[in-house]
Amino acid sequence: MLPSEHTNTVDFDTARLQRLGYAQKQLPTLQPVSLAQLRQQLSMQLQTSLDAERILTIFRAESQRLVTFDSLSYVQDSTDMSLQLGETASHSTSYHLSHDGEQLGCLTFTRQQRFKEEELAELESLIASLVFPLRNALLYRLAVQSSLRDPLTKTGNRLAMDQSLQREVELAKRNQLPLSVLMLDIDHFKQINDNFGHHTGDEVLKAVAATIKSQLRNVDMVFRYGGEEFLVLLSGTCSEAAAMVGERLRHAVVSMQMPMHCQQLGLSISLGCAALQLGENTSSLLGRVDSALYDAKRAGRNRLRMAG
Ligand code: GH3
Ligand code: MG
Ligand code: MG
Repeated sequence: MLPSEHTNTVDFDTARLQRLGYAQKQLPTLQPVSLAQLRQQLSMQLQTSLDAERILTIFRAESQRLVTFDSLSYVQDSTDMSLQLGETASHSTSYHLSHDGEQLGCLTFTRQQRFKEEELAELESLIASLVFPLRNALLYRLAVQSSLRDPLTKTGNRLAMDQSLQREVELAKRNQLPLSVLMLDIDHFKQINDNFGHHTGDEVLKAVAATIKSQLRNVDMVFRYGGEEFLVLLSGTCSEAAAMVGERLRHAVVSMQMPMHCQQLGLSISLGCAALQLGENTSSLLGRVDSALYDAKRAGRNRLRMAG
């Protein structure tokens, strides 16, 4: 049998009542009591968390009692959410969830056998219980994300930096692993603002942040420390490796494609690099990497200096 692919768009503004079974359409061949019971239980259980992953995990476990499937995946772009629960199989059915024009992501169920029409109706009915808890969880996720992210550069903000630095320093100490930081500052950035205006300055900041991120591993973290200064947190990385990463960032910024009108300005960054020392706390580490950055500036910019 060929794998089947079934896609639906479920708009709960118009479809909710139908899916909940209040409209004329009879849900085929299932015991209304068990479906109703399951929906009732689900709607209570799904309200117990604001964590989207936890909500989907509960949903998966509970809905398996009515319709068996191998995997459930969920993707939602605006909150950067991507989740895969279970091993994917050849037959799939997908639901694009929306409410009031808001895109609430795409749910995909897979299994070895083709889904029957009755099962699809049951799944849709269960999804009705998921939509509002999921929407609340996405709003919560968005609020948490925006409280930790710099809106211009989409890097972590100071709050995120303080939290992550604290956590990573503790982890490094506990697990006796290396940890390094790079502090970098765009050279002569004020000239860009002065010559081309703050809008271009903002665009350059965004482009530099994107270039930095593109050069790093997923586990590395980038934060906007101040105006045109960024901090890169490299867990599990010794000072030599961190210096190599720093040099890679420096080269990447020097070779960045700039907008036509500010092409003549050579963009560069200066960097300080420091590895966590035995018994050191976060403020000492930040102090040392900051001095190393100032050494790099004093030595002529567009270079990296190691902390003493
Ligand atoms: P140096 O090489 O010594 O680092 O020189 P600089 O010009 O980069 O440093 P300075 O500290 O003199 O200037 C930094 C400038 O960054 C001044 C400030 O207006 C600008 N800036 C800070 N935040 C932003 C921002 O969000 N957008 C824009 N466009 N400019 C910003
Ligand atoms: Mg600067
Ligand atoms: Mg600066």
